Amino acid sequence: MAEAKLIDGKAYAARLRRRVGKGVADLIAKGGPTPGLATVLMDGDPAGEVYVRSKGKMAAELGMASFDHRLSAETSEAELLALIARLNADPDVHGILVQLPLPKHIDTGHVLLAVDPAKDVDGFHPFNAGRLASVAPGAPLDFPVPCTPLGVSMLLHDVLGSLAGLKALVIGRSNLVGRPVAQLLLRADCTVTIAHSRTRDLAALSRQADIVVAAIGRPEFVRGDWIKPGAAVIDVGINRVPTEDGKSRLVGDVAFAEALKVAGHLTPVPGGVGPMTVACLMFNTWQEARRVAGLPFRSAD
Ligand code: NAP
Repeated sequence: MAEAKLIDGKAYAARLRRRVGKGVADLIAKGGPTPGLATVLMDGDPAGEVYVRSKGKMAAELGMASFDHRLSAETSEAELLALIARLNADPDVHGILVQLPLPKHIDTGHVLLAVDPAKDVDGFHPFNAGRLASVAPGAPLDFPVPCTPLGVSMLLHDVLGSLAGLKALVIGRSNLVGRPVAQLLLRADCTVTIAHSRTRDLAALSRQADIVVAAIGRPEFVRGDWIKPGAAVIDVGINRVPTEDGKSRLVGDVAFAEALKVAGHLTPVPGGVGPMTVACLMFNTWQEARRVAGLPFRSAD
């Protein structure tokens, strides 16, 4: 059997960013608002620092405004909620991103609830999660959808076209990735199974699946002999593992070299799902600015 075709998330994300950049320019040219993304970062998380900086840089490259809010790690929940209230009321802000995880003294649930659902470009507000959970099959997604799951769905549609009738296995049930991916695949008329740490005989379930989405957080957990020949495999996992020379490298949740010999389509790590996440954040912010200008918000047709 031929090797799997690699799904080039980096190239897809570059195309998506170009589309967003063009869309932003068109919107402004027609008198619409400059899409604005506000990022909120509590100090003390170096990984969050890197993500927030790259988001601000990308927003600027695409012609958007970005508003960077840094708070000390000691900031109280009340102060954070007051900042979110100001951003909710600010007409220049179309998207609010609160970088997670938050320090332990802050209730993440309170913070996610405080963001105006219309500006919830991460798609984590329970109102938007509920909309995604109740969207009719094939109905337009006219609200923000979590960025990584949206990226997964875009890549799958790009390589497979219609997903109707396909058996999909989503491994992982987090609110961040697994659940919204499953909802998107259900909307696309897949027959969806959601697996988690208590699932029995995962390998047998996986062997039946036309699509496997792995969002587990365990290096190379999904083996090649779990994969149905020709299946599309989307590896969301990002795991840093030590190498023999004392350094480290990134691997996904799928044993890449094994999967390459069996799958029909496969995302690499890095360069698969990863680049889609930030591109989808920009996409959601642009869509919200369109909505404010009276144009339809469309995550997918
Ligand atoms: P998470 O909240 O830790 O959820 C992991 C899920 O995997 C849970 O539902 C868990 O089951 C399940 N799981 C754990 N061990 C399992 C096992 N042995 N068998 C079957 N299922 C098992 O993680 P997450 O936030 O969803 O992220 C998952 C991975 O994606 C991580 O590697 C993360 O770094 C990566 N990620 C990547 C991006 C990106 O942009 N590419 C974005 C977000 C996350 P239970 O619910 O039973 O505990």
